[in-house]
Amino acid sequence: MGKLAQDYIDVKSEELIELASKIWENPEVGYKEVKASEWTAEFLRKEGFDVTVGDYGVPTSIRASWGEGKPVIGLLGEYDALPGMSQKVKPEKEAIIEGAPGHACQHNLLGVGHVGAAIGLKKEMEEKGLKGTIVFYGCPAEEELTGKVFMARGGAFKDLDIVLDWHPGNANMVLRGKMTAMNTFKLHFTGITAHAGGDPHNGRSALDAVELTHVGINYLREHVTDDVRMHYTIINGGQAPNIVPDKASSWYFVRAFSREAVEDTYERMIKVAKGAAMMTDTEVEVEYLGGCYETLNNKVVTDLLLESMRELGPIKWSEEEKQFAEKLEEKKSNSQGMFSDIGNSALFEGEALDVAMDAFGSTDVGDVLHIAPGSMFMTACTNLGAAGHSWNNTACAGHSIGMKGMLYAAKVMSEAGLKILNDTSIVDKAQEEFKKSMNGKEYKCPIPDYVKVPK
Ligand SMILES: [Zn+2]
Repeated sequence: MGKLAQDYIDVKSEELIELASKIWENPEVGYKEVKASEWTAEFLRKEGFDVTVGDYGVPTSIRASWGEGKPVIGLLGEYDALPGMSQKVKPEKEAIIEGAPGHACQHNLLGVGHVGAAIGLKKEMEEKGLKGTIVFYGCPAEEELTGKVFMARGGAFKDLDIVLDWHPGNANMVLRGKMTAMNTFKLHFTGITAHAGGDPHNGRSALDAVELTHVGINYLREHVTDDVRMHYTIINGGQAPNIVPDKASSWYFVRAFSREAVEDTYERMIKVAKGAAMMTDTEVEVEYLGGCYETLNNKVVTDLLLESMRELGPIKWSEEEKQFAEKLEEKKSNSQGMFSDIGNSALFEGEALDVAMDAFGSTDVGDVLHIAPGSMFMTACTNLGAAGHSWNNTACAGHSIGMKGMLYAAKVMSEAGLKILNDTSIVDKAQEEFKKSMNGKEYKCPIPDYVKVPK
């Protein structure tokens, strides 16, 4: 269908790969994606897009648009890396710099894949005089699960009629299930220090308060719905056993398949913390860091993406790529990789999958999907058995395996975009379904104004 778009993505493939490689070589973690956002913005500017960086109170965000009138098609790019995931492009675990960040969620591909879709679509729209607007949103800090939420708070995404979203994965597939909504917060307890042997009766342990909070939270597990997940880590547990800690802090995630369940459980966790403070005669300060919505994949858009993938057919892998993936499969970090039993090859080769399963991870894409109808799909950018956020993913994100999956995704999105431009009833149907699933509710940003965008 979109021959002009496809050809243009091919013509630009080297430049797109160069951009993705540059971002891979300079991994920047959430809210620090200064170079990645600059390079991405520059690329789109050169392609004739109207680009702004740093709107919505989020310095490393991008809005790049081209075209005019409706429908307005949104593409959601990301470019943040993960801490400590540095890895060379080789099938053995070896960091480039030990402890440095790396693209283990392959967001170096993610942003550029959407760029490819944007420029492909523009090319075909220009040549054929198709009416409509493409908006590429560059979204920082997906790994913090708050980048798009802060952007939404600042007014982003409201202009969109429909959203196409892609994430690199192990296989070509659409996802019909949900991913969880989430809140993240820290608790800071303050007590009174004392010599733990000499005069413990004068001490009020902030660490005791943290521990009792966890006892309370673990009892709470029985009285929440099955989808609720609560996890925590102690970020400050004091200095030494012989000092009663006057300061202790812990960090929490609470997840569930609805915003309502997250908010309800969050309130109860705060009550537990206040109870623990009362028990230990300490003070507690709640630092709310942010939250996001569960995903809401629109069936109309999901069908469109699946159809586009199946029309394009599977990705064709070279022998070198297959061998690289085989070696990764031998040394993969998680032998229970979700897709390790599909097919005979270490790389996904079959027809795109239609996956109905829910997943307990979260993504801030959920917020955008509660503002406009859209869907998230995945393409094969790693060996099948690669565990999420593993060194396998970093290796493939710098290898031609990842680049192929990225260019393929760009083509899928440009195809889906052209279908939308050629048949206005698609947006209407997607909107109608969206209204039904929102059931009269409006998107309410989970991050209040007093929470500052992290630096
Ligand atoms: Zn990711």
